[in-house]
Amino acid sequence: MAEVTAPAIEPADILWQDGVPESRLFGDVYFNRDNGLEETRHVFIRPNRLSERFARLPDNTAFVIAEFGFGTGLNFLAAWQAWRNSPASQRTTLHFVSAERYPLTREDLTRALALWPELQDLGNELIQHYPPLVRGVHRVLLDGGRVRLTLYFGDVLDAWRELEFTADAWFLDGFAPSLNPGMWLDDAILQIRHHSKPGTTLATFTAVGRIRRALIDRGFTMTKVEGFGRKREMLTGVIPESVFETPAADTRKPASVAIIGAGIAGTLLARNLAERGVDVLLVDGANSAGNAASGNLQGALYVKLGVEFNAQTQLALSSLLFSQRYYAPYRNNGWHPTGLLQMAWGDSERQRQERFLDRNHYPPEVLAPVDAAEASERTGIPVESGGLWYTHSGWLEPAALCKTLADHPNIRHCFGMEVQDLAKCDGQWVIAGSGPDIRVDRVVLCSGHRTPELASLAGMDGFFRFKTIRGQVSHLPEDRIHSPEAVICGPRYLNPSNKGICVTGATFDLHDLSPRESVDSHRENLAELTTMLPGLWKNEPPTETETLEGRVGFRCTTHDYQPVAGSLDNLEGNKLDGLYLFTGLGSKGLTYAPLLAEFLADKLTGQPVCLPRSLEKRVNPHRCYKMAKTEMT
Ligand code: SAM
Repeated sequence: MAEVTAPAIEPADILWQDGVPESRLFGDVYFNRDNGLEETRHVFIRPNRLSERFARLPDNTAFVIAEFGFGTGLNFLAAWQAWRNSPASQRTTLHFVSAERYPLTREDLTRALALWPELQDLGNELIQHYPPLVRGVHRVLLDGGRVRLTLYFGDVLDAWRELEFTADAWFLDGFAPSLNPGMWLDDAILQIRHHSKPGTTLATFTAVGRIRRALIDRGFTMTKVEGFGRKREMLTGVIPESVFETPAADTRKPASVAIIGAGIAGTLLARNLAERGVDVLLVDGANSAGNAASGNLQGALYVKLGVEFNAQTQLALSSLLFSQRYYAPYRNNGWHPTGLLQMAWGDSERQRQERFLDRNHYPPEVLAPVDAAEASERTGIPVESGGLWYTHSGWLEPAALCKTLADHPNIRHCFGMEVQDLAKCDGQWVIAGSGPDIRVDRVVLCSGHRTPELASLAGMDGFFRFKTIRGQVSHLPEDRIHSPEAVICGPRYLNPSNKGICVTGATFDLHDLSPRESVDSHRENLAELTTMLPGLWKNEPPTETETLEGRVGFRCTTHDYQPVAGSLDNLEGNKLDGLYLFTGLGSKGLTYAPLLAEFLADKLTGQPVCLPRSLEKRVNPHRCYKMAKTEMT
């Protein structure tokens, strides 16, 4: 098979033998020909005592299963079904972490899962949310978020090095060691140990002596048991309490979390934690959510993917794909997946897009090049140049969405509260301001450009490498323009009309920090938009910009234009432990925030982390902080 260029990943080459999938590359079957589902239950579900352990889970905790080789997802569906049949599923989370070097295409996955009528509902949900075949980590939320699947598309060794999780149970699948030795290297077995804790169990179909001995060397107590079908033996294992020296990861939920700032970052994080059963306090100076930078009537779900497929591009791509899945339940209730055109506008952007397409390979379900005629057809208005078409993107109603997200029984609102002090006292954080003091274990600052101000209340003496950028949008009356049917992005973006207007913008003002709308900013928006889409106006563009309405917001951007999400632990001794930052989203907050909220919620609850370590580094707040110089005496 020809080499597949990143970010696309080579799919599984499947041979269908009597309706059962087989890997041409490895020359082995994905599951037993006679009864794959019963084999999964015999080999993986029962030996790991899943039903019994699910039933004993404390409220609001998570059970973590890790697997070698996702394949057709049969093991995952069987585990999900067992979990669903347990009363624990109403009050706990199932995390399933799986690595797959050669993922099945959606078509092959659909065909393979059609073999299991009793798993049909779960299978359909998986197929619907199955990520496009691009490398890296994909976090998929299923069953209303109570099942969280982390799918690593890449080699198993990279997966276990890059991912942070502690497994309660392992499914060691992956073809026979003789046919696929790469999956069973000593390094991979060492990684199993790194991601385990006392009480972690494992099960595998193989009974090969080398593997049994390697697992024993790594601290597992191994037992040979009866195999399935014609296989005489298989292995189960457990890490007993005594052999494990390193402390197990803390998988308890945090006792209490306060989030300061009820914009898109704060409300997404609050909602995410609330849905995992965490009680959250959402604090804001305004009287409702979504009043500051996230208060626009419309915003595009958009990132600009780099020509190089580096960490920055990977973060942007993962964020885009996750946000498209995350917003799906809000369809027509704040989220409008109309498709989005990134115009190849002007010579330099056209050349950039050519280089981008030359060097990368994206599956068409992520993006595809279109010419001017196709761009015009898809957007429904005359467009003079083609560009990149993102079929699953669209636009959001940020102000409305923030309010919807903040409305959850586990989220308590402390609105109208101006924070005046933030101090650590007896191991807890005390938030003081108008109203009674709040005491919590963890505080997350989601306060956009006001973050440095709040951080200084917490005793931070240095400074953040953040920039405040003013952005003014203009509301175009729909009767004046040919309203597009999809979002169009170029030097300005334009959204399809909603409630009589199309929002366009925004200005990018580094030196003007006025909170008032300005005629000059409207004029600038209109001029840019008219150059980008000359055929937009039904008659003439408005000259009387004075009468145009709009809105001003302030974005917070970092020195490297990458977002910030993480804890300030160890930054200035341990005085900031338990304090987190979630900001620096620039003009791409709607796209970055769902994945970063998921990441922070993973961290705050001690559950498997959805960002690989390399991307976690990219968003670490420490990189944006300069310590104050200490006085020389
Ligand atoms: N658990 C799967 C299921 O429920 O359908 C079946 C797994 S199949 C027996 C083994 C899987 O391991 C294949 O999908 C194969 O592509 C994958 N695999 C093989 N070598 C790998 C590697 N080095 N890293 C990650 N995945 C690998």
